Amino acid sequence: MRFRLALCNGALFGALSLAVFLVVYIALTSSLGQRADDDLLSTVKEFEALYATNGVEALRAEFQREAESRGIKRVFFRLMSPRRELLAASDLRAWGKMNGIALRPAGLSNEGVGFRTVSVPGRRHKVRVILKRTADGHMIQFGATLQENEALMEKYRETFGTALAVMLLCGGAVGWILAGRAMSGVERVTQTAVRIGQGDLSRRVPLGNEGQEIEDLAKAFNDMLARIQMLVRELKEVTNNIAHDLRSPITRVRGIAETTLAGDHNFDAYREMAGAVIEESDRLVAMINTMLEIAQTDSGIADFSKTPVDVGKLIKDARELFRPVAEDKGIHLQVDVPVEHLTVLGDTARLQRVVANLLDNAIKYSSAGGNVLMSTKATAPGVAIEVVDVGVGITDGELPHIFERFYRGDRSRSTPGSGLGLSLARAIVRAHGGDITATSSPGKGSTFTVLLPAVSSPL
Ligand code: ADP
Repeated sequence: MRFRLALCNGALFGALSLAVFLVVYIALTSSLGQRADDDLLSTVKEFEALYATNGVEALRAEFQREAESRGIKRVFFRLMSPRRELLAASDLRAWGKMNGIALRPAGLSNEGVGFRTVSVPGRRHKVRVILKRTADGHMIQFGATLQENEALMEKYRETFGTALAVMLLCGGAVGWILAGRAMSGVERVTQTAVRIGQGDLSRRVPLGNEGQEIEDLAKAFNDMLARIQMLVRELKEVTNNIAHDLRSPITRVRGIAETTLAGDHNFDAYREMAGAVIEESDRLVAMINTMLEIAQTDSGIADFSKTPVDVGKLIKDARELFRPVAEDKGIHLQVDVPVEHLTVLGDTARLQRVVANLLDNAIKYSSAGGNVLMSTKATAPGVAIEVVDVGVGITDGELPHIFERFYRGDRSRSTPGSGLGLSLARAIVRAHGGDITATSSPGKGSTFTVLLPAVSSPL
């Protein structure tokens, strides 16, 4: 890839240089050609004037003089009669046979002037020839070698050839360096991918300054790594949880069976054991299901439906659902919702689960005569749901851990529970783009606040 980029760069440099060369070459050739023609024409016109005033003899002398001063090998002059007889000429010895430079009046313009470029046998350089018809029908011919122009153009081609080679080399070298810099970013990504392949998930692609595209690639790669690392951590946690927290219920089930087997072998004892085993198994299945749900929600692979949810209705429904339990425990449930409907975009069943978990805890950790207040209100970033109780409260030491999986406070040991309710609630709320917080004073009660982003249009 680096080599190809360098090659392309070199080729681009070369093509551009070649284009510049061609433009300059054409312009130069045409300008030199024009200058040569102007000189030929003005000289011939002077001869014509001389011939008109002083005649053939004067012209012959002038031919000789002019040829000598310009160089008899470089120029020649001829005067021909209308019947093509040579009347006067400069020294033609250096020009060999003049057949190749025949007079062809047919190609003359209205003013009686014609130009041609001809190759003369035995001469390296071409010759530019002008033919001019005089007023009395004679022909004056003037030929000049294009040696200087051609030498100049040859020099130009040589110089440009060298320059082109240098440009190609420079272009290739610059391309090689630039491509190397750009590709080094890709190389960094590759190296990191190789190290990760060897099992080091904590590696990240170091950010450099090879340009926005490479930076974006590195960032996207790092984000992907962070996510994979999170999923692997999640997997490890679930495995650990299974190892530690599911072992004790299973041991308990086994203990029940063992005790029954070792004791009286009457039917009632077996019935009781079967009942206990079913109950424990149900609890285990529920725990496993909740664990899976937390893991799926945390990793973002859970299937969430997103519909507008009226949070006021959500907590009123929860109150109806928990009213019998609360009444049994002698706890008063209160709901405080604003008149206007507060709406969030979310999965109704899962948000119901969040509110149910909070309300269940509030009732569970309150004593008889307690009061639980559920309220909703609009806040700056969205909608807040608050569940306030005046129960046992949570100590400062426990508060940072209550959202961890399987964490149970010291004072909750006597109450049934798995320590998964708050973990699931937080996973669901975070999957909705919100968060859940808790404040508490031991002995006085706790406040759980769920913050969810609001939907702009009310129901
Ligand atoms: P569980 O209630 O099954 O133990 P949770 O995840 O719902 O598990 O709660 C974790 C812990 O947080 C509880 O064991 C308890 O110590 C504490 N907690 C939760 N809600 C309250 C509450 N309203 N009042 C006091 N403590 C609470």
